[in-house]
Amino acid sequence: TMEYGPAPEASEEARAWLKGRAAGIGHFIGGSFTRPGDERFATVNPATEEELARVSQGSAADVDAAVKAARAAFPKWSRLSGHQRARYLYAIARHIQKRQRFLAVLESMDNGKPIRETRDIDIPLVARHFYHHAGWAEMVESEFEGFSPVGVCGQIIPWNFPLLMLAWKVAPALAAGNTVVLKPAEQTPLTATAFAEICAEVGLPEGVVNIVHGDGRTGAAITAHEDIDKLAFTGSTEVGRIIREATAGQGKKLSLELGGKSPFIVFEDADLDGAVEGVVDAIWFNQGEVCCAGSRILVQEGVAGRFYDKLRRRMESLRVGDPLDKAIDVGAVVSAEQLERISALVRQGEEEGGRLWRAPAPLPEKGYFFAPSFFTEVEPASTVCGVEIFGPVAVAMTFRTPAEAVELANNTRYGLAASVWSENINLALDTAARVKAGVVWVNCTNMLDAGAGFGGYRESGFGREGAREGLYEYLVSDVERALKPGREETPFVPRGAP
Ligand code: NAD
Repeated sequence: TMEYGPAPEASEEARAWLKGRAAGIGHFIGGSFTRPGDERFATVNPATEEELARVSQGSAADVDAAVKAARAAFPKWSRLSGHQRARYLYAIARHIQKRQRFLAVLESMDNGKPIRETRDIDIPLVARHFYHHAGWAEMVESEFEGFSPVGVCGQIIPWNFPLLMLAWKVAPALAAGNTVVLKPAEQTPLTATAFAEICAEVGLPEGVVNIVHGDGRTGAAITAHEDIDKLAFTGSTEVGRIIREATAGQGKKLSLELGGKSPFIVFEDADLDGAVEGVVDAIWFNQGEVCCAGSRILVQEGVAGRFYDKLRRRMESLRVGDPLDKAIDVGAVVSAEQLERISALVRQGEEEGGRLWRAPAPLPEKGYFFAPSFFTEVEPASTVCGVEIFGPVAVAMTFRTPAEAVELANNTRYGLAASVWSENINLALDTAARVKAGVVWVNCTNMLDAGAGFGGYRESGFGREGAREGLYEYLVSDVERALKPGREETPFVPRGAP
């Protein structure tokens, strides 16, 4: 017998919510939803291939209306005291907690990720980001003297953590006094729509948050819009490059959070069972659709055989299937297109001589599923070692010495994350310092928190999200502003001012 969902009533609530939007989903502009436009796209449940909703494709005119609403809202919002802004952010956080089960089900339906993850990780972290940044809203005036909000922020996000990526973008922007125009990924527009409803429910002033749906064309319209002061993007390195080129010379502030091929280094003195659980978390969590996924396993030669054996045995117990089933470890890949991308790369890995190990889990007949896998006997120069697969597939290589481990780890065009496994803390910390990555975890992996800055080096992008570092992305210093005259400055209202 299967036990379904976090609560049957949450699933029913999600179904009822979808039913209520059967006429189509519009954009959220200036505090209300637009009538669904003529051009619409379907969002599909990747586990069942059923259509969930039809969503409006945002035009350049929709983007322009959203930017105008955000611009109109900016003077008032940025001049509120930090304390007043914090009250809205606390209210949003509380509403998310109240609707946590519903949001978890909706997210799992739209993205295909296991309910255990949306319920225990994604949505709680979303609430945590709003709480954390409510705290920052209260402190930003005193902590960032000589800074002011940037203005209107364009934000473009991916499909792998739909609501969490929204929170990473919206919470700091609002805390710092900005207004936003956000575009969710076209594969996963639903929780952003539910979020817009929450903004309306808490009485967030209209125009502070605007959501425009659509594909890359809508993203390009946001990128090109002249009245956007700051652009924040998370997604592929290819689109990151397009955006960087498009914004060159525009004077927009820019941050990019792009791909990765993060090393997972296992030394021979590591707790191997712990490291095996680490791999499960590093590359099979969220179907491997994680920008900081530990996708390159580097194992010290003396323990490699034993480690691979343990890993293969652990693979046998992984369950792949219905994301709404609480007992499932790995859900569906986000789309047919992504499944094809993963499959093509894996075929290429085999053609290049890699040896593929696949979890024996039976896969559901319908839906976009891929069994957890890893490659051994791969050349560091091969495609699967260099390219981000963004699926539940790791590559494993061996090394002899710590120096060789560092060399292999840094042999990548990316630099987002890394993890180091050893019982020798000196070795672990020494290695961590030599690996060029935005974050290095020791004896753990994928530990993300609102209080720790996150971001990359090299082709993983630039700028940081979360914590104090992340706030600088949404503020401009007086010096910067003096160098770039133009728009009227809106300084923070000093504490205690009316
Ligand atoms: P993508 O970069 O195409 O999409 C990300 C976002 O950018 C979406 O909202 C999309 O609509 C938008 N976009 C697309 N073209 C745009 C353009 N020209 N201008 C502005 N915005 C545009 O990513 P994808 O196609 O969904 O996935 C492709 C690959 O990207 C994946 O296989 C994976 O390797 C990588 N990826 C990385 C992350 C990450 O968090 N680093 C997230 C998603 C995907």
